[in-house]
Amino acid sequence: MVESDEDRFLRLRAKADRLRRRLEDEAQNSGRVPVWAQKIINKTAEDWDVPVPPIKWRRSKINKWSSGRTFHHRIVVTAGKDRQDQKLVLLHELAHWIVKHGPDPDGWGHTAAFWRVAFDLFADHKMIKYATMREGRNWARAKTEAKIRRARS
Ligand SMILES: [Zn+2]
Repeated sequence: MVESDEDRFLRLRAKADRLRRRLEDEAQNSGRVPVWAQKIINKTAEDWDVPVPPIKWRRSKINKWSSGRTFHHRIVVTAGKDRQDQKLVLLHELAHWIVKHGPDPDGWGHTAAFWRVAFDLFADHKMIKYATMREGRNWARAKTEAKIRRARS
């Protein structure tokens, strides 16, 4: 049987789709940190005089929102689809890292000191408004820090 042009077109398109999906999956699982994020990480570590944290960067296939966790020796980010939210979560985790390597080596929590650092970072990245909305939903102290900043400015 001779393949018609249309069949051939459909077959090749299906093949291209499969390949694209596979590449996307590989990208999602590669754990590679995006260039923009690595720039923020390096710059922040330099500004705050802390070691550059190793980052595991995972990509969520379904979530819009990101999440993260800071451990003793690395940060894990699960990136959702929303870029602004990825950035916010990265800055949040970097704030944990900074507190941990600076003022409060035993401090992991969402303390007033943590939020001061976090909001310094949010301010550097012009994200105070979004941060107040996003973080204030979960953390009363974030709302308090946002209020302090507003009163000062
Ligand atoms: Zn946290």
